[in-house]
Amino acid sequence: MFGKILIANRGEIALRIMRACRAMGIKTVAVHSTADANAMYVRLADESVCIGPADSTSSYLNIPAIISAAEVTDAEAIHPGYGFLAENADFADRVEKSGFTFIGPRGDTIRLMGDKVNAKEAMLAAGVPCVPGSDGALPDDPKAILEMARRIGYPVIIKASAGGGGRGMRVVRTEAALLNSVNTTRTEAKAAFGSDKVYLEKFLENPRHIEIQVLSDNFQNAVYLGERDCSMQRRNQKVVEESPAPGIPRKLIERLGTRCVEACRRIGYRGAGTFEFLYENGEFYFIEMNTRVQVEHPVTELVTGVDIISEQIRIAAGERLSIKQRDIEFKGHAIECRINAEDPFTFRPSPGKVTTWCMPGGPGIRLDSHVYAGYTVPPYYDSMIGKLIAYGPDRETALARMRVALSEVAIDGIRSNIPLHRRILADSKFNEGGTTIHYLEECLINWTNENKDA
Ligand code: ADP
Repeated sequence: MFGKILIANRGEIALRIMRACRAMGIKTVAVHSTADANAMYVRLADESVCIGPADSTSSYLNIPAIISAAEVTDAEAIHPGYGFLAENADFADRVEKSGFTFIGPRGDTIRLMGDKVNAKEAMLAAGVPCVPGSDGALPDDPKAILEMARRIGYPVIIKASAGGGGRGMRVVRTEAALLNSVNTTRTEAKAAFGSDKVYLEKFLENPRHIEIQVLSDNFQNAVYLGERDCSMQRRNQKVVEESPAPGIPRKLIERLGTRCVEACRRIGYRGAGTFEFLYENGEFYFIEMNTRVQVEHPVTELVTGVDIISEQIRIAAGERLSIKQRDIEFKGHAIECRINAEDPFTFRPSPGKVTTWCMPGGPGIRLDSHVYAGYTVPPYYDSMIGKLIAYGPDRETALARMRVALSEVAIDGIRSNIPLHRRILADSKFNEGGTTIHYLEECLINWTNENKDA
């Protein structure tokens, strides 16, 4: 096992990784920008290194500075968390070439999955169901493109192969608009991602977002840790996540999970990963794979009892997976609310000094956050400042515990989206379960008007 790990991230996930390391007896190195120098979690680390100014390009994305920090502190491995450099194949390669262990998949795997056309091809070959679409990247020939779209059937979605973060996509509803849209998407993709490779997919009108968590070691052992329903989204950003997904037959999940495990073996996947699917009319369609730990991993930890971060570290250290699929028991229900420093209904970011930070507890409540009273939320980074997670033996209990927990939260000094979560947890359709990826945005139109009237 490693003696010391450098954590190349900040905020709640840096703290989460640090907690796993400390519980495993591993020393930690926190790297931070000048804006995060006084954060409590930085002080909790055994060592800390300032890697640059507030601007993340000069700090959390600064590969040479991070590698130097690992060198001067004698760290053996680097955990990238999520975001920043977590899915940067060149970073993974540089880490390994410099003699450190990258806690994640090989650079080549990240590269393969980062190219959505190649990823889809790999998934199809492994028997994972995908959205019907163009087989591979679109050709230049306009006639061929028109023909493909006709075969798929409108509406279609044009997607940049190198796209990410909900960018580089365009829905086309009529043949008349197709070629222009393809050209615009190509131009935008070239500018944003450096590649004009695009492809076509059937546009699903009312899907749910369901994803499968996997763990895979260096010895072809892989397991799936069930699913998460992340359909409550705003602008492709997840707001609430839960596990299990309400109303989906376990048989379907088992079959899908088994396919994902098979895909891991075929591509020689290493570490924790997530296969993302759209789910419509009883069918799953693969859209992409995330080759890192995800924000919403705690809901899976609560229903399986598996510590995903510790497993990532053990796998990276070359250990065999200690769990077999038959040992994994899915028990109870977990829900996560992402806490953001922003106006609950206009979504304007709200950085600043937190004067009150009063958080709930009690049975089944978990809080993953680096914030405390007196902490200043810097304006430079993502507005997510924590996650509140509720667990119960069944969905109803988890929902009830979450409602109570949200009612206890008091945050002053900055605005937070806690009022939005209270509104979501009071919504009858959400409580029924099984809403689609458009549901929250539809609600927001009404709730914003309610707020204006009030
Ligand atoms: P990104 O890597 O940018 O997150 P994804 O491929 O994961 O891109 O897609 C992001 C979101 O876009 C999905 O969660 C879904 O809401 C929507 N989307 C993507 N593909 C389709 C599709 N074929 N039909 C309908 N919606 C889609």
